[in-house]
Formats: sequence, structure tokens, C-alpha cells
Amino acid sequence: MNYIVLDLEWNQCPYGKDREIRRLPFEIVEIGAVKLNSEKEIVDTFHGLVRPAVYHRLHFRTKEVIAVSFEELKREGRPFPEVVRAFFRWCGDDCRFCTFGTLDLTELQRNLSYYKLDDLLKGPVFYEDVQKLFAIAYETRKERRALSYVVDFLGIEDNGEFHQALDDAVYTAKVLQRIPDDVILKNFSIDCYRTPKSREEEIRVRYETYEKFISREFKSKEAVMGDRLIRQVRCFACGEYVRREIPWFSDAGKNYYTVCKCPNHGYVKSKVRVRKAADGEYFGIKTTKMIGDTDVDKILKKQSFLKAKRRRKGREDDE
Ligand SMILES: [Zn+2]
Repeated sequence: MNYIVLDLEWNQCPYGKDREIRRLPFEIVEIGAVKLNSEKEIVDTFHGLVRPAVYHRLHFRTKEVIAVSFEELKREGRPFPEVVRAFFRWCGDDCRFCTFGTLDLTELQRNLSYYKLDDLLKGPVFYEDVQKLFAIAYETRKERRALSYVVDFLGIEDNGEFHQALDDAVYTAKVLQRIPDDVILKNFSIDCYRTPKSREEEIRVRYETYEKFISREFKSKEAVMGDRLIRQVRCFACGEYVRREIPWFSDAGKNYYTVCKCPNHGYVKSKVRVRKAADGEYFGIKTTKMIGDTDVDKILKKQSFLKAKRRRKGREDDE
């Protein structure tokens, strides 16, 4: 299996958000990629410029960060379908995508959808987020650093250029080389631009300290939270169904929480993030892990705080 480290540059509507094409807010203009073998040795690179076809000027922000001008893109770029087909041919069949951060694969798929090329990349895509892997290997799990910081931190030689797709892909590949294999293996990410479409496609993944479940789509948030498999909680340690201690409750309607108790292993917490899919429906991402007594207290405090807030809000509405 090869690793494909991918970096994209994109343009956005130069006339502001209200005039953007809803189906394509970010038009990819450059693809840079590095291929590494299973020993993480760099074996090849790919670079493609895309001739813009949706937005006919560079947004000022894009102009600030990318190394090519609009005229160069017009002159040297090829149509997106042509560049992206060449890219996937170059990738080969057996590869694992790696990106710095969580955005690139989503925008790649959105651009593929715009050109009705969805078949080129079947989702949900399992990939490596090198920004996250760096945090886990070198800092704390939640930290997210800029690529320039990471390159400097690891003492990787740089040429002073960032935001050129191929340069950034090469830096990211060199960061990947410095991440231990077991960290890579245990901490892969899942891109949900394309969600599971049926019960069978739903995803259940076990990481070291938590389990992740990604549901299929539903018509509403309420329907997500009404789903049997979303509501059910099993003990992370033994897999047995567990009794509810704190019933499902929600913060502002985006996240839902519950605490259960396993007679043998103690408290289990589940959290569901309800997200809107690209086609406008809803799906849930549930994470389940073991927690201690102090975590239970924190959740109880959160719940009573939310209840009090709701009560206050109710009174204000009555007045
Ligand atoms: Zn248990």
C-alpha cells in the first residue's frame, strides 16, 4: 500500500459569499501530491494546475496565499476533470490518502460531485490527518498547529515557500515520515462528505480509548436521535448493553449526551454530534468511552446548567 499525501489550493467567489455558486464554494485550482511506499519513502510526486471554470478572478485571500497568478492558471491549467483523472490514475488502486487537516478530501469530493465524477473516490474515505497525528505524537491530542510551525518544530528544512500545493505536500510527507507507524495505524480519520447510505454501510470503528459509530442519513435531527442504534449504548470495555444513568440530553441541539453504567466496568459516556450531510439530510456521529466519577459530575453540572438556562429563557419568553 502507498501513502498519497495530498494538498490542494482552491479559489472562492471573488465577489463575496452571497454570489458564490452554492454547489461549489471552493474551486480547486492546484493539486500537489507525494507518493510514499509502505516504508514511507518518497517515490513520486504529482503536480497539476487547474484552469478555472467557475470563478473568473482570484479572491483576494486566494491571491495572498497561492504562488500562481490567475493568468498562469488560465494559460497553463488543464480542465479539472482532466487533471483529476490523471491524478487518480497516478495514485493507483491501493493507496491511503493523507492530508494536513480535515478540509482537502471534503473539497476534493465536492469538486468531483460538481463535475459528476463521484465514482473516482468512493466515500466515506478513511484517511490520515497528519495535523492530528503530529499533535498525538508530539504534543497533546487536541492541539492543532499550522504546517509552518510543525515543519519548524521537527527541524525539517524548508525553502521559505508555503501554500504552494506541491511544496506543502512535500512538507506534509516529511512530517508523516516522522510519525511512528503505530500512531498512524491507531488514529486514522474518516471523512464524511459521503455518508453511509444504508444500515449495512454504517460505520463502527474501535480506537484505543473510544468507539466511533457513524449512522446513515435521516430526514431530521429528531429522527437521528430516535434511531435505535444511535440511542443504544454498550460498555466500551465489555460490549454489553448498559443501563442509563443520565438520559440523553442536548446542548444547543447539536450535541447529545448520555451516561450509562456497566455493573462490571463503571461509567460509560456516549456523545452524538448531529451533522448535516452534503445533500441536506442529517446523520449522527456517536463516540463512546469509559469515564470516571469526576467526569460524571461535570456532565451533571452541564445538564443542570442547561436546564436552568432553558427555564430562564422560558420565563423571558412568557413575559
Ligand atoms: Zn462492561
